[in-house]
Order: sequence, then C-alpha cells, then structure tokens
Amino acid sequence: MLLSQKRKKSARPKGNNFAVVRMKFEIITIFPDFFRGPLQHGIVRRALEAEIIDVRMHDLRAFTHDRHRTVDDRPFGGGEGMLLKPEPIFECAESLAVSPREVRIAGRATESVILLSPRGELLTQDVAAQLAALDRLVLICGRYEGVDERVSEHLADREISVGDYVLSGGELPAALVVDAVSRLLPGSLGNESSARQESFTGAAQGKSSARKKGGEENGTPSVPDSTCASGGLLDYPQYTRPADFRGMKVPEELVSGNHDEIRRWRRHRALEKTFYHRPELLERVELSAEDRNFLHKLRRETAS
Ligand code: SAH
Repeated sequence: MLLSQKRKKSARPKGNNFAVVRMKFEIITIFPDFFRGPLQHGIVRRALEAEIIDVRMHDLRAFTHDRHRTVDDRPFGGGEGMLLKPEPIFECAESLAVSPREVRIAGRATESVILLSPRGELLTQDVAAQLAALDRLVLICGRYEGVDERVSEHLADREISVGDYVLSGGELPAALVVDAVSRLLPGSLGNESSARQESFTGAAQGKSSARKKGGEENGTPSVPDSTCASGGLLDYPQYTRPADFRGMKVPEELVSGNHDEIRRWRRHRALEKTFYHRPELLERVELSAEDRNFLHKLRRETAS
C-alpha cells in the first residue's frame, strides 16, 4: 500500500522547490491498515502531500508461501506466545534491495533497517536527528511475543525502543519514528526554526538538521543561544490570547514587550522545568554563568 498515492500535486506548499523525496519510509507490518490514521494528519500529512516523505507499507503476509499465510511460530525451548518468523521478514527486506548489513553498520549507507523493540536504544531527539540525515528507513514492526532474534542479529542494523514500557506491536512505535523524523526534514515545518527551539533540541542536532542534504542556511543560528530556545533543555511554557482567561493571567514578563526580559524569563522557566522534571538533561547542556547561578539558587531553595 502506498500512502503517498493520495497526495495532491496542488498541495505542494508555495515556495517549496524540493524536487526530491527527502525520506522514504518502508514499514514492514502484519497490519498495513494501522497507519491510515496516524499518517493522515497535520505535519506528516503535509509532508506526504508535498512529497517530502514517501511512506510505503509492506504486508508481511505477502511474503509467506503457505496456504494460511503464516507469519508466526512457537519459540524454541518453550514458553508463552508466538514469535514472528524470520523468513517473511528477510524476504520482504530483500525485496526492498536493502544494502548489506555490514555497510549499514559501518555508517556507509544512507539507509537503516530498524527493528522496533522494547530492548532497543531509546528514541530521543538526537536519534531522530541521526535518522533524519538518511534517505531511507525500513521499519520492522514486531507483534506477539516479539521477533525471531536472527532479524536483530543479521538483518536490522539498529533496534529502537520508544520507551520503557511494552506495547502490543511495533506499529505505534514506527508511527512515532515517522512523525519525529518527518518534522525534522527541511520543508516539513512551516517555520524551520520552531523545530530547533523545541524541547531536547541540542546543539549537535541543530547543526545536523541545518546541514543535511543541502538544507538551506537562512542566516539564523542553528544552535540556540544561551538566553533563548531549548539548547537541549525542556521547552519553556508558552501562552496565547487572551492575556487574562477567567482570572488566570499570562506572566507579566511575556506581555512586557521587553525582549531581554522575555528571553531571561523563558530561559529561567526552561531551566526550572528541566531541573524538576528531567535533571539528567542538565548534564549535557551548555550553561552560561547566569544559568549556573539560577540553578544554584533553585538547588538551595529545594534543599531548604
Ligand atoms: N516479549 C517482548 C515484548 C514483545 S511486544 C519483550 O518483553 O521484550 C511485541 C512487539 O511490540 C515487539 O516485538 C516490538 O516490535 C513492539 N514493541 C513493544 N514495546 C515496544 C517499545 N517500547 N518500543 C518499540 N517497540 C515496542
């Protein structure tokens, strides 16, 4: 099934001159219809319509050879449940002419074959940025009790987890990868700088997304400065109109019109959120002397 068949030529945004698809997603699944919903809204839908991404679903059952189109079997050694068999997955990947695993592992390919798995490396904004620099992602969705280990050992070049919890299949995780990667591709967001200022967006990532595949440098710094934007912190709180909603007021600093004050307020709130919710992120962030002072104050306050 080819989702991009539905794209409308007229949907290409004005001023988007990208002639090439920037990322091709090939999703190997026993539930190709699963993706109808998740990919047909918002930024991902626009990216499909504008031909920035191309998403193809590959039904694993089409690569079986028995009457029952069997994709699963019992685990050797006993135990609960069923596993996805290796043969249809390998055959499906081979039909996509994926490059040799050694070449992919050595980083000499512009594609990756990814097994979605709770045992994989965590999907972070940095991982999404690494993936966004490639041309093609083959996403293998597990089901049941998982996937025959030979897929991980001999076919996939990486395993990705979307978090420390177990889902019933790899389809939702694959949709998350499509979403997180698509919005990093040049042209998919209306305002490119908005992706760089979001939570988790660190220096390394800002650079790679600005540099990739001739992505245009528009004169704005790709690395957020230390008084504004994420810089690897959680995003600061944002408000829109009305300034007074049922007595709940927007912070004064934001309506002050004083840009230095706004920048300082945002930086402090981002530091605060990160300090309370994800303190480990602070270790990877470049901090100014003023940041360090502010954090020192926060630490003192929480200790007392
Ligand atoms: N028995 C396995 C879980 C299998 S869940 C275990 O305990 O590790 C079935 C499939 O769902 C997996 O093969 C994987 O493709 C997908 N899946 C479940 N949780 C996931 C997660 N957190 N991240 C990525 N994929 C996940």
